[in-house]
Amino acid sequence: MKTWSDPDLMLAMRLHAPGEALRAERVPVPRPGPGQVLIKVAACGVCRTDLHVVDGDLTEGRYPLVPGHEIVGRVVAGGARFPGGARVGVPWLGWTCGTCEYCASARENLCAEARFTGYTLDGGYAEYAVADERFCFGLPERYGDVEAAPLLCAGLIGYRSYAFAGEGRALGLYGFGAAAHILAQVAKAHGKKVFAFTRPEDRKGMEFALRCGADWAGGSDQAPPEPLDAAIIFAPAGALVPQALAAVKKGGRVVCGGIHMSDIPAFAYALLWGERRVQSVANLTRADGEAFMRVAAETPIRTQTKAFPLEEANEALAALREGRLEGAAVLVP
Ligand SMILES: [Zn+2]
Ligand SMILES: [Zn+2]
Repeated sequence: MKTWSDPDLMLAMRLHAPGEALRAERVPVPRPGPGQVLIKVAACGVCRTDLHVVDGDLTEGRYPLVPGHEIVGRVVAGGARFPGGARVGVPWLGWTCGTCEYCASARENLCAEARFTGYTLDGGYAEYAVADERFCFGLPERYGDVEAAPLLCAGLIGYRSYAFAGEGRALGLYGFGAAAHILAQVAKAHGKKVFAFTRPEDRKGMEFALRCGADWAGGSDQAPPEPLDAAIIFAPAGALVPQALAAVKKGGRVVCGGIHMSDIPAFAYALLWGERRVQSVANLTRADGEAFMRVAAETPIRTQTKAFPLEEANEALAALREGRLEGAAVLVP
């Protein structure tokens, strides 16, 4: 907030306990430790995972906590890899141990010691943030700060989900929010056919999906016009798993892209039979981020964003919760 003149202090939107609203507070600007950069936040995306953090569906947060893991900003201090003034992106994966069996086998996304931005580390719902620069990304110049923010989780973890969906041409996307609207454009650029599933009555969501390039849009209770090679579920509804299995052909894959999902109802083995697979996607690796940023540099992705002032973080979260957004909310300090 510009009215706060003391440069040692900043506005941060902090969560003091699960289930509470974030509080706008004046707190010390964090100091970068060894290997960290201090970043002046230009934009921070609002992700569904932030709702799970705020609601306490994810239970490892420490409070008070600054949420936000789609940070775009400029380095103001620290930094060997990124000099002062460099634009960087900070994603969900904030730190890993580097030595465990997962870290040693290119699966740092599964590291048990991993720390996560805006969850077990303070994030970007603030005027400044610190981050381990080894986990930051450079961002393609074609995207402005607000446009780039949703790439950092919706785009990136969406892309990891997409990679697990395999090479098949017919791709279903269940839940057409921030991740799907980016991924639909990537999939179309790769020559795929995209089938978008929204809540059954969500006409606006279906129209939005078609505007983003989907070949077909319908309710999640509908069968697609042709069997799918793969489906990615972004909506946090476990009931979609058997529905998606029913929509994929033999050998097809159903990828669950979210960090939290309601329970999956029991279903007949026949839905899984035929070498269909169900797979979750957990977090990201730095290699995923580098790969996705190359795709985003080559592919003109139009991210649909709605900017909110940082102080209105609670309003942005409410808009996401109530399904009032097309695309992604982004906080701007
Ligand atoms: Zn590890
Ligand atoms: Zn996220």
